[in-house]
Amino acid sequence: MRSSPDYALSKSYDPAAQESKWQEYWRRQDVYRFDAQDTSRKTYSIDTPPPYPSGDFHVGNALNWCYIDFVARYKRMRGFNVHFPQGWDCHGLPTEVRVEQTFKIRKNDVPPEQFVEMCRKLTGEYIAKMKQSMNLLGISSDWALEYKTMDSSYYRLTQLSFLELYKSGYLYRGEHPVNWCPRDETAIAEAEVVYQERKGTLYYMRFGDPNEGIEIASTRPELLAACVGIAVNPKDDKYKTAVGKTITVPIFGQKARIISDDEVDPRYGTGAVMICTFGDKTDVRWQKKYHLPIIKALTENGRLSVDDSRFKGLKAEEARKKIVAELQGTGLINKTETTQQNIGTCWRCQTPIEIISRPQWFMKTRDLTQKVVEQAGKLDWVPPFAKQRLIDWAESLDWDWVISRQRIFATPIPVWYCTKCESTIIPDERDLPVDPRKDKAPENTCPKCGGREFQGERDVLDTWMDSSITAAIHAGWPSRPDLFKQLFPADLQPNGLDIVRTWDYYLLVRSLALFGTAPYKALLINGMVKGTDGRMMHKSYGNYVEADEAVKKVGADALRQWAAAGGSTGYDIPFRWNQLEYGKKFLTKLWNVTRFILANTKDPLPSKEPTNLPLIDRWLLANLQTLTNDVSEAFETFQFNTAIEAIRQFTWHSLADDYLEAIKYRLLPGRDPADLKATQYCLKEALLTVGKLLAPICPHISEAIYHQFSLGKTGSVHQENWPQPHETVDDASIRDGRLLLDLIADARRKKSSKGLSLGSNIKKIVITTRAEFLHLLKENEETILRTLKAYSMDLERSPSSSNPLKEPGPGFKVEIHA
Ligand SMILES: [Zn+2]
Ligand SMILES: [Zn+2]
Repeated sequence: MRSSPDYALSKSYDPAAQESKWQEYWRRQDVYRFDAQDTSRKTYSIDTPPPYPSGDFHVGNALNWCYIDFVARYKRMRGFNVHFPQGWDCHGLPTEVRVEQTFKIRKNDVPPEQFVEMCRKLTGEYIAKMKQSMNLLGISSDWALEYKTMDSSYYRLTQLSFLELYKSGYLYRGEHPVNWCPRDETAIAEAEVVYQERKGTLYYMRFGDPNEGIEIASTRPELLAACVGIAVNPKDDKYKTAVGKTITVPIFGQKARIISDDEVDPRYGTGAVMICTFGDKTDVRWQKKYHLPIIKALTENGRLSVDDSRFKGLKAEEARKKIVAELQGTGLINKTETTQQNIGTCWRCQTPIEIISRPQWFMKTRDLTQKVVEQAGKLDWVPPFAKQRLIDWAESLDWDWVISRQRIFATPIPVWYCTKCESTIIPDERDLPVDPRKDKAPENTCPKCGGREFQGERDVLDTWMDSSITAAIHAGWPSRPDLFKQLFPADLQPNGLDIVRTWDYYLLVRSLALFGTAPYKALLINGMVKGTDGRMMHKSYGNYVEADEAVKKVGADALRQWAAAGGSTGYDIPFRWNQLEYGKKFLTKLWNVTRFILANTKDPLPSKEPTNLPLIDRWLLANLQTLTNDVSEAFETFQFNTAIEAIRQFTWHSLADDYLEAIKYRLLPGRDPADLKATQYCLKEALLTVGKLLAPICPHISEAIYHQFSLGKTGSVHQENWPQPHETVDDASIRDGRLLLDLIADARRKKSSKGLSLGSNIKKIVITTRAEFLHLLKENEETILRTLKAYSMDLERSPSSSNPLKEPGPGFKVEIHA
């Protein structure tokens, strides 16, 4: 039987040709389709992260998706009906900022409808690009389940979840200080604040009487305009008599009360600090605690709003310079010093955040902290240390989650307000989705006061309000309760370490509030990819590698191997081109081994393992058992590096170096047909098993190998059964076979040290060994002679009294007689 030319493997391994061929095949065969009707298989549901459609898909994203794909492909082969959707988290700042940058406008320069249209268009283009990158990488998402959070069907669900939380008392609207990005002009959540070390200047400013007043150190003189108090430590003797008095703030002239509070660090600056509304979170606490007035000195775009024409409208930084110059001119600043600051910045635009108070919507997340911590403790975390990250984060939150945003391209908040009594009007669930920015209120008269005028909410929802219900939406909430039962909570929550405190947290807190349960059972966390220079990968560092570029250079299967082999799950891994090259080299080796095996196993073979196999065959099959067990265990515990290392080790060394070299003579013409069949059986068994075990990590080459075995059938290796792990392994054959192979390797070294080529014949080989090995070596005489090209073999028993071969040692001594 000859292989048909269509299936025959090309002479050399060409990743690009192979990969596009199999990707097309999978698409045509619809190999990854989740079958909602199938009740014969257990489901395995993955709550895939919906990425921001940024258009970029770098090797860090590739790592994330490879992990997910390894699991999806493995679970399919283990017989699960795998639910692997892919969605897109379209809204929010990143998209709006990109539109502003791409079209060189600000959000308010064009009508809102036009701005949204621009966002949608750009998002669509980016999605297409990223989808292509995912397909090139061989990710097995079920595209029939694709969704976009900007679709009106998704709006409906986000708004529905809002209404449910509102009705159950988890949401409220109130005026509270929140983190604010003055560049993006919106509230942002605590999770969106990134702290950065920056150098700043500490100014020593004199308040009150030039001779008797108090000197106060601050890095933000522009906040003098908002200064409502001075705080000192109660134990600080310098200020004992000052506490309780008021003092005049320079330039702006308002009176500030001096209070004492334990929180003040007497060693910082002069030991007296300004309380401004609001400079930071401490100010927010003190304002409440001491009932201080509120001065809104900053506008929403970060400019000074004071009644002083010298400073009104200036940006905070400009105002600072001008105020400092003024104070220096009047001798009120005598000293400055450089200081290291930890500044909160906006995660998207790096602008230092301000704290601004205006009406916002909040979710009562702090009420759920205890539950979040409890649930997080019960879940299965890979790696385990990620759990503490979530717990620490939840416990550190001292403000509720601000869920409203002052942006445009996002899910509208589905509420109206009565203009007379300000009560909140919500729509009927059946009318969702709504856009109160355009749509009329659902009531004609206010049920509370009878008012007839309503104002639609102009704010929109935080994008995490969309993406923190994906697990439920994937599972068909709320219209498919049957499916929901099967798919919720998700079996797997895979994401990067960087979004544990956002996505994992928000999903958990939303799900606890909406469904009373965690939305996932296990969390698979990937580390971050470091650039070739060891720093975090970032476009501005020039160490950034697009996944497409890597695929073009070495192929998807090589990139995927790097993702598996790069490091332990959950830890940061470096990006190194030589590791990708190594992956490609391995695939080339596997390709050549495959071609050799196929060329030598064309005869029909027994489907069952032949009996009375020689030691070397039993050794190979026993190693294959160990490999199957190790790789299965590694996938069960998400240790992908262990899996790929075991497969590469077996293929390269056990199969190619050891076994093939030791059995080549058995493939020559004129051999005993039974013996030929035995080795052919082993070769094919090893190749087919390797092909299956490698399928989750290197799906393309595995498919190519698998197709060599299923001529005439249409099945894909990704719909195959996973090789059955073995309860017992033939350890005796592993040990004995190793002895035989070590002996052959040792004899070869001796041959070459005598200047003999491996192919040259030798007269005799003399082996001295312990009594227990004599029989074993005698039995394998032919393998030893043929492999070493020796005419005869003498076996000598080592003297037991003065045994030179005592453990530890190889158990033999070899002499070569040319
Ligand atoms: Zn920003
Ligand atoms: Zn009213």
